[in-house]
Amino acid sequence: MVNKQTLKKQKLRSKPDLTQLALNTVVARSGQSGAAILELANKSLDLTQQEIQCARQFNFEMPEDISLAVDLLERSIQNITATEKNVILVFDETSGTYHCLNDVKNPGSKPREFTQISDRFLQDLLDSEEVIHTYLYAYGAPLGIVAIAERMDGKPLSVTDDILLELASRYLATKVIAFLTMKQSISLSFIQNTMLDVASQLVTAVDQETIFRHTLEFLNSKLGFGMAQYVALDETTGEGEVLVKCVDGQIESYTHAGLESKRDRVKEFASLVSLFSSVARTQPYLHITGKNLGDKSLADVFQLTQDLEKDAIQSALILPVPDAATGMIKGTINLFQADDNVISEEALEVARETMGLVSLALSRAKVLEKALAMASSDELTGLTNRRGFYNRFEAEIERARRKPTPICVVMMDVDFFKKLNDTYGHLNGDLVLKHLSAMYVQNVRKSDLVCRFGGEEFTILLPDTELDAARELMDRIREKISETVVTGVNGEKIHVTISAGVAQVDAGQLTGSKRKTMEVISNALALADKQLYVAKEEGRNQVCAAC
Ligand code: GH3
Ligand code: MG
Ligand code: MG
Repeated sequence: MVNKQTLKKQKLRSKPDLTQLALNTVVARSGQSGAAILELANKSLDLTQQEIQCARQFNFEMPEDISLAVDLLERSIQNITATEKNVILVFDETSGTYHCLNDVKNPGSKPREFTQISDRFLQDLLDSEEVIHTYLYAYGAPLGIVAIAERMDGKPLSVTDDILLELASRYLATKVIAFLTMKQSISLSFIQNTMLDVASQLVTAVDQETIFRHTLEFLNSKLGFGMAQYVALDETTGEGEVLVKCVDGQIESYTHAGLESKRDRVKEFASLVSLFSSVARTQPYLHITGKNLGDKSLADVFQLTQDLEKDAIQSALILPVPDAATGMIKGTINLFQADDNVISEEALEVARETMGLVSLALSRAKVLEKALAMASSDELTGLTNRRGFYNRFEAEIERARRKPTPICVVMMDVDFFKKLNDTYGHLNGDLVLKHLSAMYVQNVRKSDLVCRFGGEEFTILLPDTELDAARELMDRIREKISETVVTGVNGEKIHVTISAGVAQVDAGQLTGSKRKTMEVISNALALADKQLYVAKEEGRNQVCAAC
């Protein structure tokens, strides 16, 4: 029969004697006999007293502050071993490297990772010729290394210090585990809180540009990357096109068709993408430290030419952007640092998680874009309808607010269209409308937007265009139309002319930025409409512009 009393006694007996353990380790390491070492040790210290002191020193509550916690660990080792210097290295099984815990106390300093620990190495690390170290074990598994140097009294380290360090390491191991758990939970809550921020923004983003704007701004501000860019793969050339960039919180976007000539291009981008594609499973990101990628500088490879201190770029984090449906990599988000600080695990985790959200948001935007395109196009001509026009106009005004550029708008109306319908029939009327829409589209830039505003009225939005240029462009189109003969459904030869009114969006209303976007739009349209009226009044087949 085993009663409670005997169980308790057995437990007490089987509790490891730390002093004995410490001694055994030193004996095993030094090769001297246990008795000899014990005699030496007993001469200079009372081991039982030391164990009590040890337990007392490490019997502290972990503070919330990480560097304070390390401070306490360091001081406890110092007090017990009476040495000036120590270093605590923690082994990370996943990377197979040792991390220096003491680095936590100097935020901003580069956390150090080491693959191999030798005596020489520890001497360098502690800047001392005489160093002793021991292993930290927890639950039978190696946890790390602790090393000490330079006794406070200036005497050389002895076997006594060896035993003290051994003793301290037994208690230290449990505290290091507490520290690592605490660090993990702090970083988890950082990740969760930060992710919540970006997730709430991405959930409401409905187009590619907004998604990348939010993402770059977020990564730029929260993770401290001074420069960020989204590069899309151009499958025909194999080059990358910089579609959105963010420098110190300032966003520039070139997502729209027609802005091709303004995009910076990354040569041989396809090879980077294919590298990612081949290692996608195991390599969720690429971290380039040092100023160069291959034999070229990072700044040159990624076209970091404008506004950037190209010489300052020290490292890059490259995150692939896969297509959510196919998994094919469509581009990369590149983040640049002007210092060579190692990116923290938390920052990497946030970046990785963000890319998951980006991928989801992109696939959602794609579906929405399709639905929106269907709802915003005109059946007869295939052009954007009034709704689509207003949406795009709003987006252009927002863009011009961030980066002032002139925007023009044109209103066109077919001359004597009622008569044309009456003469040639409605079918031919429709045919003429299709002919006109094709003429408009063919004669403007890709970045311009032609819209069937309603009936036989069309509008054109001309971003990045001055009034004079807009008027000249419209006059050329008007002339071409007047010179072209449309062949009707029964071979009729139909002549048609148009009148147009051109207006420029009031720049004052943009910089003021107080007025509502819709108000700016309707003011510009009213102005163009007024000019159209003037053109009609003055005899039709002409273009008038507000000055
Ligand atoms: P004006 O030079 O002053 O513009 O003369 P107009 O005859 O064009 O005058 P108005 O703009 O008032 O006439 C518009 C006509 O366009 C009326 C309508 O029958 C015709 N129309 C509007 N939408 C369509 C359409 O989709 N197809 C056809 N065939 N005709 C249309
Ligand atoms: Mg009309
Ligand atoms: Mg008309």
